Amino acid sequence: VIELDGICRDFPSQPPVRALDTVSLRVGRGDYLAIIGPSGSGKSTLLNVLGLLDRPTSGGYRLDGIDTTTMRDGARTRLRGDRIGFVFQSFHLLSHRSVVENVMLAEIYGRQSRKGRRERALAALERVGLAHRTEFPPDRLSGGERQRAAIARALLGEPSLLLCDEPTGNLDSRNTEAVLDLFDELREQGLTIVVITHEQEVSARAGRRVRITDGALTEL
Ligand code: ATP
Ligand code: MG
Repeated sequence: VIELDGICRDFPSQPPVRALDTVSLRVGRGDYLAIIGPSGSGKSTLLNVLGLLDRPTSGGYRLDGIDTTTMRDGARTRLRGDRIGFVFQSFHLLSHRSVVENVMLAEIYGRQSRKGRRERALAALERVGLAHRTEFPPDRLSGGERQRAAIARALLGEPSLLLCDEPTGNLDSRNTEAVLDLFDELREQGLTIVVITHEQEVSARAGRRVRITDGALTEL
């Protein structure tokens, strides 16, 4: 799914920062990869590159065999909508909308039509175990349920790759377990999952771990 070859990402700040330094990485279909590393080491920068939100300064990135480095912005945006789902530490749910409406608000590009969006949102909620919460406002859900709603929203475009930045950072250990169990199920269904985490509990459940230090990646 992911083929990164010698990626660098330089920020032209003063002084300039090399946030990613010659990073190469292969991630296959159904893999579950945890990225760990100290604050400021380049984890979010790597996730942004993987998610086509940012371009590397140099190096190659193929996603599902497609060379993304030479693509125009519009094509990259469509590819992102087609293949990638994002999950963040904060859930970004609108409090005045029901859970299913929040899921329906996901931006979708490419092959997914707008038709049947509600049906697909309900199916996504079923997939994350929230079929009984579809009409609730987000503030009546537990933290773990809110994160699962956010994951349902990320799944609406039927991505092949789920990119998560500290997905359990706001959750207690019981809700963390529920989200990790869901990741296991999604991985078994063939989804590729990349998770940035500071938590031992989360990285321990991943099939593979890498560490980033000063922009350089090492396999653990
Ligand atoms: P944290 O664990 O705190 O989230 P991180 O590992 O995600 O940290 P990044 O956000 O990837 O770290 O940042 C890596 C380095 O790149 C840091 O030195 C940061 O200051 C720098 N950096 C990130 N974004 C920019 C930017 N837009 N402009 C300039 N420097 C940046
Ligand atoms: Mg970060």
